[in-house]
Amino acid sequence: MTLVIPRSARNDTTRTSNSVATVPALRSLVSPSRAVTITGACLALGATLACGGTSGGIAATPSVTSTGALPPAVTDSRLPRTRAERTNYTETSHYADVVAFIDSLRRLGAPIAVGSIGTTTENRTLPYVIASRPLVSTPAAARATGRPIVYVQGNIHAGEVEGKEALQAIIRDLVYQTRRNVLDSIVLIAVPIYNADGNERFADQARNRGAQNGPPLVGQRPNAQGLDLNRDYIKAEAPETRASLAMFNEWNPDVFVDLHTTNGSYHGYALTYAPSLNPAAGIGPSFVGGAYARDSILPELRSRVRTRRGYETFDYGNFVSQDSAEKGWFTYDHRPRFGTNYYALRGRIAVLSEAYSHDPFARRVASTYAFVSELLSLVAERGPRVRSLAASADSAATAWGAQGTGAGPQIPIRADLTTTPFTGEVIVEALEATSDTMRTEPGVRRGIRRTGNYRRVRMPIYDRFAPTLTTTPAWGFALSASDSSAIRLLRLHGVSLQRVTVACDIAGEMFTSDSVIVSPTPFQGRREVRIEGGWRRADARLDAGAFVVPLGQPLGVVATYVLDPRSDDGLVTWNVGDRVANGRLQLPPMRLGSRPPTACGLGPA
Ligand SMILES: [Zn+2]
Repeated sequence: MTLVIPRSARNDTTRTSNSVATVPALRSLVSPSRAVTITGACLALGATLACGGTSGGIAATPSVTSTGALPPAVTDSRLPRTRAERTNYTETSHYADVVAFIDSLRRLGAPIAVGSIGTTTENRTLPYVIASRPLVSTPAAARATGRPIVYVQGNIHAGEVEGKEALQAIIRDLVYQTRRNVLDSIVLIAVPIYNADGNERFADQARNRGAQNGPPLVGQRPNAQGLDLNRDYIKAEAPETRASLAMFNEWNPDVFVDLHTTNGSYHGYALTYAPSLNPAAGIGPSFVGGAYARDSILPELRSRVRTRRGYETFDYGNFVSQDSAEKGWFTYDHRPRFGTNYYALRGRIAVLSEAYSHDPFARRVASTYAFVSELLSLVAERGPRVRSLAASADSAATAWGAQGTGAGPQIPIRADLTTTPFTGEVIVEALEATSDTMRTEPGVRRGIRRTGNYRRVRMPIYDRFAPTLTTTPAWGFALSASDSSAIRLLRLHGVSLQRVTVACDIAGEMFTSDSVIVSPTPFQGRREVRIEGGWRRADARLDAGAFVVPLGQPLGVVATYVLDPRSDDGLVTWNVGDRVANGRLQLPPMRLGSRPPTACGLGPA
């Protein structure tokens, strides 16, 4: 996810190709005699060979010379294979390959519904596949099943290619399995190639994805506009993000899963994961998507992936430095610009999956396949609980706003890394300095060599964030009719709006800025803004046509995070609509402690 290890030679093409050379031999050993099963497949096939090591303990960590595991092989010759499978994991799918793969499934009569979430800057339609038994193809039909809807997305960073491959394989293997599987208990929406434009910018992996162990050619991280789609979930600037938000609004998935590959520290995990790290995703007891994922789903998933699939996994993180790993293991960021951090603010569960970029490509596909399969299985088992958590989050958020200021828990709108980490063991790989200038393996920078020696080190684990600023839930906000950029953004997020039909006087709060700090350096094409200030009681007149954002709605927490000028990731942060000019906040919203009087004639927007 984040580049920590510097790249010393961007165009170097030297690689030892230790991964692909031995893949065919292993494949013949592990080919099962039947299609893969969604749970316990590796136990059935023999965990050691099919799943990359024995379960648990240090023995499950990869060695530098191992090829790692392979994903389950396809034995039915009638079924389509992914480009990665066809090439023994020397190549990853182009956009056309993914489209052709889905078309092949359809031509074979696979029980899937296929559509497009939207269109990219370069005019590629982004396919989605829905799989469930019985098959549903509309949000209403999906909801009528009473099952959780699970939305899994691959390829947001197009150089991180294994989610795209694993997701195609999972769809195929599930829909062609005749015995009961997760498709009898969930509705799966799979979006395998979310950043299609970035995917098609194929270039040498050493350039596009410098710290990754193959395949040789991969796409680029940003989309065609140069935007990092996993920093875009609040400002929603990219067509991909807007398409994604439209899917969220339409289908309201109970679980969102975002598939990545991480580079950075050299550790002993085939995959690391994170729930939403935003404290506003866990303002319990009724709004607990983030906390439930962190404290219940992910620990159980970790255990199952170890015992059933043979992979060590752990919470996402990095060491301060490889040489002083004992100083701590640090997670990444809480801000909702990141998709999984964002999604849980909608009162749902979100899971970030990060395959280990120093594992060979095949093993990364295999670990992602295993992790997603077990996650689907766990959500299927816990379907009623997952559904009831979603329902209680919706009603809790709705009730807080409807009751007006003071009701409900404080909503965090800024946070910082916890200062009270817990102490635990993390698996660390020892590295050696080399004197020559050759790369020892793809993705490992010159001057160092992996040793395959792992040790468990006790260290502080910083896996969560704590609020540094919270706000009282208000009844709502009022926005000037001329604040079109805010209105547009709220609509993209699916926030319900109302409109004043008759000019009226109200008692509310106006925002007063004490300081406005504009970042001197642009990020994602914007100069980020941070405002200090507070709400002061004020009477005001709302013109006819002014917009009102009632927070008594399921997306009340999202609306609060986007609209409060002090938020660390809202429309002020990104200066949406140039609302910070000459050091002043333009068009400040008004905060409403209670519903505007009847005289305002509130109506639909
Ligand atoms: Zn990523």
